[in-house]
Amino acid sequence: MFYNIISEFIGFSGCVKYFVNKEVRNITKNTLKYLFIVIWNIFYICQRKTNRMALYNKRSKVELKTLLTKESFKRITISFYKYGNIIDPQSYRDELYIKWIELQCYGRIYIAKEGINAQMSVPEFNLQQFLDDLESDNYLKGISIKYAVEDDGKSFYKLTIKVRHKIVADGLDDGAFDVSNVGKHLSAIEFHELVDHPETLVIDMRNHYESEIGHFKGAVCPEADTFREEIEMVVDQFENQKDRKILLYCTGGIRCEKASAYLRYSGFKDVNQLHGGILEYARQIKLLKLESKFMGKNFVFDDRLGESINGEVISHCHQCGKKCDTHTNCANDLCHILFLQCDECASKYEGCCSNDCKSILLMPAEERHLHVKTFGRKFGNRKSFRKSIDHKINLTTHING
Ligand SMILES: [Zn+2]
Ligand SMILES: [Zn+2]
Repeated sequence: MFYNIISEFIGFSGCVKYFVNKEVRNITKNTLKYLFIVIWNIFYICQRKTNRMALYNKRSKVELKTLLTKESFKRITISFYKYGNIIDPQSYRDELYIKWIELQCYGRIYIAKEGINAQMSVPEFNLQQFLDDLESDNYLKGISIKYAVEDDGKSFYKLTIKVRHKIVADGLDDGAFDVSNVGKHLSAIEFHELVDHPETLVIDMRNHYESEIGHFKGAVCPEADTFREEIEMVVDQFENQKDRKILLYCTGGIRCEKASAYLRYSGFKDVNQLHGGILEYARQIKLLKLESKFMGKNFVFDDRLGESINGEVISHCHQCGKKCDTHTNCANDLCHILFLQCDECASKYEGCCSNDCKSILLMPAEERHLHVKTFGRKFGNRKSFRKSIDHKINLTTHING
């Protein structure tokens, strides 16, 4: 009897032990399995990150700018764009980045499913290779390149290629109208033939901060801060003049592609556009030795911020009203507004747009940090800033007679 009880107990504990061991074995097996999967994933992500890092710039702005000044070769500033379907913008972007970083190209390039828009600086010794590469690229083959008029080669200090929803932030619903139904493209000579005619309506399709430093004589320059706003203003303003001959222009022609199609869709009958924009116009008049009908500076979206077309200064310092066409960003980072500032005002206001911004700039970092929320709301509205500076300019003009 006793023996039976003992043997039953041993049998029972043996079974428990067996099952517990089986559990432990399974748990260990599963833990190892999951640990392996986690390690593999970490390894995979790290490797991907390392690979992708090669496709983006990681150096600081100061370092890059120093490198640029130390360069002993010349750079050529160019721009080009194309509307046309790109099936996989991300892989095309990576492909171009690898090619262009190899050729030491710098610039700002936007790629979207609808096309590509590029502003670049290419080392002179690599220019031919760069152009050959474009020709061997199925998508970019035959693209028209615009060369900068004033070029110190310091237009860009790094290569940035971004994938975007659109290559120009136009805010338009492309599905609503025929984007390929563009206006008639005009050469510089054709543009000259029409520009002075009293029935012609010349419209600057750029933002106000661009047109205020340079535009065609007699052009309409709407006070718009964005392209979308600009198009709406033009359609509203000329609602009753849809039969007039319209001449559109912009920096490199890309904005007019969309604007002209939209104006035609809105019922404007005779829409024309300057082929290749002001950039190509400047090149053609130089080549043909024609007198420029464009006055002042052409605003460009690189570190130069503008290139003079006829050497004239048509705008004024936003702070003292003196003749000036130098754009600058307010030195107070919370504001950073783009405005016109002469050298004297730059030293008087320490590069800031106002006394308010100057006092913030001079604040100790901790104090500034405490006020970030309040400042954030106060600054950064270009329109209200323009109204206040217009007032100052009128005042100065009035005082100076
Ligand atoms: Zn000034
Ligand atoms: Zn400011």
